Amino acid sequence: MPARTFSELSLSAKVLAAVKAVGYEKPTPIQLDAIPHVLQHKDVLGIAQTGTGKTASFVLPMLTLLEKGRTRARMPRTLILQPTRELAAQVAENFAKYGINHRLNVVLLIGGISFEEQERKLERGADVLIATPGRFLEHFERGKLLLTGIEILVIDEADRMLDIGFIPDIERICKIIPFTRQTLFFSATMPPEIIKLTEQFLRTPAWIEVTQASSAAHTITERFVKSASQLWKKRIILRQLIEMEGDALKNAIIFCNRKRDISELFHSLIRYNFNTGALHGDMEQHARMIMLSNFKDGKFKFLVASDVAARGLDIPNVSHVFNFDVPLHPEDYVHRIGRTGRAGRQGKAFTIVTQNDLKYVQAIEKMNSKNIEWLNGESFSTQFDPTEENMQVKQAKSQKEIQKNRTGKSKSEKNKLFVKDKKFERNEPTTVGFGDDTPAFMLISTRFN
Ligand code: AMP
Repeated sequence: MPARTFSELSLSAKVLAAVKAVGYEKPTPIQLDAIPHVLQHKDVLGIAQTGTGKTASFVLPMLTLLEKGRTRARMPRTLILQPTRELAAQVAENFAKYGINHRLNVVLLIGGISFEEQERKLERGADVLIATPGRFLEHFERGKLLLTGIEILVIDEADRMLDIGFIPDIERICKIIPFTRQTLFFSATMPPEIIKLTEQFLRTPAWIEVTQASSAAHTITERFVKSASQLWKKRIILRQLIEMEGDALKNAIIFCNRKRDISELFHSLIRYNFNTGALHGDMEQHARMIMLSNFKDGKFKFLVASDVAARGLDIPNVSHVFNFDVPLHPEDYVHRIGRTGRAGRQGKAFTIVTQNDLKYVQAIEKMNSKNIEWLNGESFSTQFDPTEENMQVKQAKSQKEIQKNRTGKSKSEKNKLFVKDKKFERNEPTTVGFGDDTPAFMLISTRFN
């Protein structure tokens, strides 16, 4: 009979003690399926979303396997690749939690932290390397890593890697790591590029599919909220929704599609005395980490975020998610609302929808095979609020000044830097790091501390 409990899974005594201390009662379906294969040194292809317990499905057996063998300087024994710094940091936290009874060196190789510091840690020997592909390859190119000792390679969130454009890096890494390794590969979806990758680099993998989105999803109450398309009207609706939820709203992530909308909404919420932070991919790593931990610790009640915060981040106890913009891809909707209702808790997700968003909303309903109830946001009071107007004028002025100070270019001059993004048929600024597109709020550092 297949195993049903952690103790039936052949995990080591140290791992079982850690799992008990964390308080998990029984393994999740992906853990039940994946752990025996990993312990038998087999390749695994796991099709699963975050929220299913997939991190523990590879971390727990890896810890068990790492108990045999020893660490050598600059020769890591395992490598875990993650698409974003936050996810990499989160997996490192998981190693700390589940590896409490082990004396393992876990080294995090992510951007935003100095090479020297990371190299010093590598010198001491790493049992586990957790890295984003770009930073990992930079270390490799500096000649500071010997990869011949890698026994297990984990590629997590592969479809997200594809979105970000990391597939060539992944291919390269798969080629430079000894082919005798064991590969554990996870992806929420299997587009053709990902299938090709698995065919090329996995050896007769155990195919594990957790089709059901996290059971947490059943605990989320979802609503679409009809709105006119003006941003100030959307903001009024958002504030009304926040008010309507009252004490039930403990904290919330508010998702926007574009960086500049994050900036504007962030300013607006601050203006209305909402205790708010902001998070998006162009922020420096340190600022991102501080922002996230402040939100996790309850120092901010609201976090205005881009999709960078939606994928995989495990922020327990988020009571509400608001989609200020409807996501353009239905999978992003699932990831966004999955920030709430985690681990069986109740959660609520409101999505503000304008006429132009209807085709995206249909895609969301189709993917989830269900109809979501509507609220008529336009019936909320959407009288124009002078505070909004003042704010917009002030913000436009300050953004113009900051822009001019930074680049010596006015907004109209800057517009020449915009390129047409054919995919979404709208103008997006060309962005290289902070580049010309640093949102104004990023320049006001005191707000974030
Ligand atoms: P993940 O899919 O790895 O992002 O995990 C989602 C959440 O599930 C995390 O908060 C884990 O701590 C939690 N979790 C993982 N395994 C279990 C388990 N067996 N029982 C209860 N919670 C779990």
